[in-house]
Amino acid sequence: MKNHRELGQELELFMHAEEAPGMPFFLPKGMVIREELERFWKEKHRLSGYKEIKTPIMMKQHLWEQSGHWDHYHENMYFSEVDNQHYAIKPMNCPGSVLIFNQKKRSYRELPMRLAELGLVHRHELSGSLNGLLRVRSFTQDDAHIYCSMDQIESEIEQVLSLVHDIYSSFGFQYTVELSTRPEKYMGDLEKWNAAEESLSNVLKKKNIEFSLNEGDGAFYGPKIDFHVLDSMDRSWQCGTIQLDFQMPEKFDCSYIGEDGEKHRPVMIHRAIYGSVERFMAILIEHYQGDFPVWLSPVQAKVIPVNPSVFDYGHQIVNDLQKQGIRVEMDDSSDRFNAKIRQASIEKVPYLIVIGNNEKEANVLTVQKRVSGEKINMTVEEFIKKIKD
Ligand code: ZN
Repeated sequence: MKNHRELGQELELFMHAEEAPGMPFFLPKGMVIREELERFWKEKHRLSGYKEIKTPIMMKQHLWEQSGHWDHYHENMYFSEVDNQHYAIKPMNCPGSVLIFNQKKRSYRELPMRLAELGLVHRHELSGSLNGLLRVRSFTQDDAHIYCSMDQIESEIEQVLSLVHDIYSSFGFQYTVELSTRPEKYMGDLEKWNAAEESLSNVLKKKNIEFSLNEGDGAFYGPKIDFHVLDSMDRSWQCGTIQLDFQMPEKFDCSYIGEDGEKHRPVMIHRAIYGSVERFMAILIEHYQGDFPVWLSPVQAKVIPVNPSVFDYGHQIVNDLQKQGIRVEMDDSSDRFNAKIRQASIEKVPYLIVIGNNEKEANVLTVQKRVSGEKINMTVEEFIKKIKD
């Protein structure tokens, strides 16, 4: 078993440099995986009624004083000074999202408002705790903030639970769920806390989701549900979270006009499913041991010519496949055939396309699945159909 740092280096997915400790650089192959994960995430969220936003990485310090991050979190934040103004690099996406909610008068008709953001945040973790992509100082949270009324909490949580299930299952992950309740040091009124805790556990019970109770382990601003995925080695990783928040809408004076024509305070739900794209990638790299499913593979097929006389045929195949959006490369090095096969195995390319004079004459491919070794003859069109399926 290799860890994601070793695999990341072998497969050329990401790197680190002393110029930016704890802030990963994504190499072209790692970027493919990252973009596929983001594309998948965006699609699932669009279908669930989320609207995507993007907020600035750097905002004035007074915003962070207002949000409470200054009091609770400033030791982990990065700062900058521009034009004699104090700025902070965002450690969380919430205040930016609130500014968007507050940009105009809101009506109950707009709720629930689900604003999603793949937001880059920076947090100054101690250098001793840094670990590849698992523990980093800059990362992209797959964040969303839902603004809703008290009586929409249950149905919103229910929808988030379905989305979490849908996304984790797509990677073959089982997961466990924890409900964390009011800590000793909490803010806000007790009644709201009790109502919120009750709605969270109601929804979990209603959906027949087993959960363990972490009494007193909630955030100071509201109760939360955490998700731990179990990987192929039965290890558990905390990824997703759903947190109810009564405080931030107070601090930023968020409101909407209700059906009764009166001003009301919305509830804010913070939620992430991957947790962070970087961390989720680290977990996936170890879970699959670099053997990614075809849709996540940086190179989906590699053309391996038996001899230089079929290089032209190989280039034509590469062209045809690329036009169809398939990620394909050709090994036109002077290495011996067996060495090329070995190299493609090290790179964990799922499909090897072997071509020699026979294939060129018959205008077909010999497609070999790397894992099973199974070989099938097919045309380019048949291969395109297979890989797209
Ligand atoms: Zn948030």
